[in-house]
Amino acid sequence: MKLILLGAPGAGKGTQAEIICKKLNIPTISTGNILREAIKNKTERGVMAKSFMDAGKLVPDDVIVGIVSERLSQDDCKNGFILDGMPRTVVQAEALDKMGVQIDVVISIEVEDSAIERRMSGRRVCESCGASYHIEHKKPKEDGVCDSCAGKLVLRADDAPETVRDRLRVYHEQTEPLVAYYASKGILKTVKGCDGIDDTSRLVFEALGV
Ligand code: AMP
Repeated sequence: MKLILLGAPGAGKGTQAEIICKKLNIPTISTGNILREAIKNKTERGVMAKSFMDAGKLVPDDVIVGIVSERLSQDDCKNGFILDGMPRTVVQAEALDKMGVQIDVVISIEVEDSAIERRMSGRRVCESCGASYHIEHKKPKEDGVCDSCAGKLVLRADDAPETVRDRLRVYHEQTEPLVAYYASKGILKTVKGCDGIDDTSRLVFEALGV
């Protein structure tokens, strides 16, 4: 299954991607995680992307399209994949079409802006492996420590309230048009993003028919 998860920042795309990935045994491609890894390793791409990300802006389309086309050409993507956080612009969606990528389903996880702002202040990520947690909805076994790799859990720089508002504005202006883009192709399914992770997963699996 070739799947795209759409939704505002903090809607739960990463968390649902992780759950779907385990159930369907297909890899998740998170452009945000790939970029954060590049920043951590101080690669040329990382240094370039950091200023955009810290400001809550989108990284230029050509950089993202390059990252994703490289990743999709790897063997583990042959039987399907989950795109988490890509495409975020119509240009990126068209680039996927031009690459000949045939998407089966696009799930749009819908959450109101006010709920997003509330949620983001509780989000924590592992600075080593990028795994995502929440201080109420997805607690680690030990406070401040990643369950998978024992890395330190931190607040993402771009989850600061002012930056979240900028990211939401960018989402409405540049990413939300993709809902109509994929609806017109007949592959869009809309799911309500609930506060409970399992409640959202149930709706996602219902939409996927799995
Ligand atoms: P995320 O972890 O998906 O919320 O992404 C964090 C940040 O990485 C975004 O706010 C953007 O600055 C950048 N980013 C991730 N994916 C994309 C994309 N597909 N297009 C442009 N920028 C992106």
